[in-house]
Amino acid sequence: MKKVKIKRTILFIISAILLFLISDFIFPFQPNIRYATQITDSKGNVIHAFLSRDDKWRLYSEVSEITPLLRKTLIYKEDQYFYYHPGVNPLAIIRAAGWNIFTGRRTSGASTITMQVVRLLEPRPRTYFNKLLEMYRALQLELHYSKGEILQMYLNLVPYGGNIEGIKAASILYFNKPPQLLSLAEITALTIVPNRPSSLRPGTRNEALITARNEWLKRFEAEKLFSASTIRDALDEPLQVNRLQVPRQAPHLALRLSQEFKDQPVIHTSLKIQTQIQIEEQVKNYVNRLKSTDIHNAAVLVVDNETMQVEAYIGSADFNNPFDGGQVDGIRAVRSPGSTLKPLLYAAAFDKGIITPRTILNDVPVNFAGYEPENFDRHFNGPVTTEFALANSLNIPAVKILKEVGTSALVEKLRKAGFKTIDKQAKDLGLSMILGGCGVTLEEMTRLFAAFSGEGKFRNLQFLSGNSESAKGEAIVSGESTFLVTNILTQITRPDLPTNFDNTYHLPKIAWKTGTSYGKRDAWSIGYNRRYTIGVWVGNFSGTGVPGLSGANTATPLLFSIFNALDYNSPKGWFKTPANVSLRKVCAASGDIPSEFCEHQILDHYIVGVSAYKKCQHLRWVFTDPAGKISYCTYCIPENGFEKRTYPNLAPELIAYNEIQKIPYRKIPPHNPACERVFHEGAPLIVSPNDGSEYYIRKEEPQQIQLACQAANDVQEVFWYVNDKLSKRSAPHEAVFVSPSLGRVKISCSDDKGRNSDIWITVKRM
Ligand SMILES: [Zn+2]
Ligand SMILES: [Zn+2]
Repeated sequence: MKKVKIKRTILFIISAILLFLISDFIFPFQPNIRYATQITDSKGNVIHAFLSRDDKWRLYSEVSEITPLLRKTLIYKEDQYFYYHPGVNPLAIIRAAGWNIFTGRRTSGASTITMQVVRLLEPRPRTYFNKLLEMYRALQLELHYSKGEILQMYLNLVPYGGNIEGIKAASILYFNKPPQLLSLAEITALTIVPNRPSSLRPGTRNEALITARNEWLKRFEAEKLFSASTIRDALDEPLQVNRLQVPRQAPHLALRLSQEFKDQPVIHTSLKIQTQIQIEEQVKNYVNRLKSTDIHNAAVLVVDNETMQVEAYIGSADFNNPFDGGQVDGIRAVRSPGSTLKPLLYAAAFDKGIITPRTILNDVPVNFAGYEPENFDRHFNGPVTTEFALANSLNIPAVKILKEVGTSALVEKLRKAGFKTIDKQAKDLGLSMILGGCGVTLEEMTRLFAAFSGEGKFRNLQFLSGNSESAKGEAIVSGESTFLVTNILTQITRPDLPTNFDNTYHLPKIAWKTGTSYGKRDAWSIGYNRRYTIGVWVGNFSGTGVPGLSGANTATPLLFSIFNALDYNSPKGWFKTPANVSLRKVCAASGDIPSEFCEHQILDHYIVGVSAYKKCQHLRWVFTDPAGKISYCTYCIPENGFEKRTYPNLAPELIAYNEIQKIPYRKIPPHNPACERVFHEGAPLIVSPNDGSEYYIRKEEPQQIQLACQAANDVQEVFWYVNDKLSKRSAPHEAVFVSPSLGRVKISCSDDKGRNSDIWITVKRM
């Protein structure tokens, strides 16, 4: 008899459990809690938050934020047998049921923490049926979640008045601290609130809250939950509580990441909040000073070079200023880079072996198939060193180098470096891209310069803490060429130091490059040392140009002051010379390996095995008569009575420049008139009109077309032919004019050695 009873009982329990498991499978309970989004700094402190989709400040607390003190107090107060019951507490139910029958009232005393979680997840009217449903759900929760997880859910959902839910939101918005720093007095006060969230709402009736808090503290003391002295301290603690505002720091990055990581309750950024606040303040003050000059915005990005972590992200001068587009994220806005891409081009050219820092480049007017760049100051400097050209951001040398390196090669490097807009524009980009004829963002530029600080290797920016980019990265340019570029960008004798630059002001040891876009719309200054790369953009989001705006005067002072604030006397030292960078003697007139006539020799860095080994040809040997009036070639040189002299070996464009600027130079005497040799190399270069161009002329007053060429140093006279008919003869640098006929027109230029060039143009009637 007894055995049968036991058997039946076992059978009953097993089938009950089975039934429960099957029903759990059919009616699963999958809580889907929609949290508000928290943005934290690198230390995990909340610096920004966004309401949940149902407009609650329901901030997720991690297990580490739930302290033993909090757990102990809460469990004692709400559900002492929490760790021992399976979601429902049968004894409590019986007790409560008896109490209900006895008093005729309903109390919630039987509710376990698990059942409370069920009610918070699925609020239902209080009926006996719903109470049973809640118990069933509580069993389900216990089946699928640990006690720790259930307690965490409770602490994340419990209401604390208004739209504040969860212990984290309550501790931040009432006590301005993370939950793990709450005192016993604060915890006790908070645990009372959910019982009467509206009448005991902290900050409204603090006296009532203190009274209730102290009652509970005394009960804790009576139950010996805490030592008497702990209770005494808690009782003496004043209740300082006010409803605070949700933190709203680093708004641009917060918004960006909340959109990128939708529905992620906590986004841990890499921001150093002190740095962020300090630079935000600097940017705001700086732009306030510029407002009188009609400049209204700035953006700054600070990157740690070692980890690539973003430590400060200032998207505009003031997020809350709607008049100047404060919500626009200047770090991601596509703008013209001005000259800021030049360092990458020079590095690419160093890697190709085309130039070294002391290579001489001609900063003189050049026509690149119709494109005639000018310098920022509209002056030309004649022959200059490569390092001077980069440090002074000269345009013509840069365009010449780009022509040699190739636009597509530079675009490929930019593509590797993650330049999105340039990638899209690739097909339309020409030589003008190096002067700013393309679109970039401050983020892309800063990341590129961070690669210069990291031996030319591209690495992604890290916006999240813990994600340090230790990977080696893909090389965009070599460590050797970036070293050469860094050396040049560190020089301080250059025009893009801010004018009025005060000598007493601390000049940070950094490499930096400025840029000013066409129409003076964007001022850039991007700099780096071993530790940080900082990108600064200043301008107007509206795109309005400002006459006084320049990279040197508008952006660089802000860059310097941020470096000084962040890394004054950087302890990290400076970049070391790579093993493959060495010094060699070069001719000062060309930057090439000295020939026997190169007297002025200087030292120059070069990349071993890469930089070209080219003998200097800054002079050339010419055979002349003893008086130096006639020159000979090897064909017509007389058997005796000649002399061997050196003459400058100038590029035609430099000769043209010298002629126009009336700069004296030694000319090679005219070639022996009796010579019958036909020359092939060095034909005049027709620079006007452009080959293949179209001209429109009016019938009534046909305009004339200007003819111009650049001829070799030994040319005395050139002959212009229109459709093979001699039209004009002139000195090589004299401009002449012709009135061509309609249709396809052939224009030829021959020099006095018989060397000839042809071009074709089309002339149409207007
Ligand atoms: Zn030389
Ligand atoms: Zn000859």
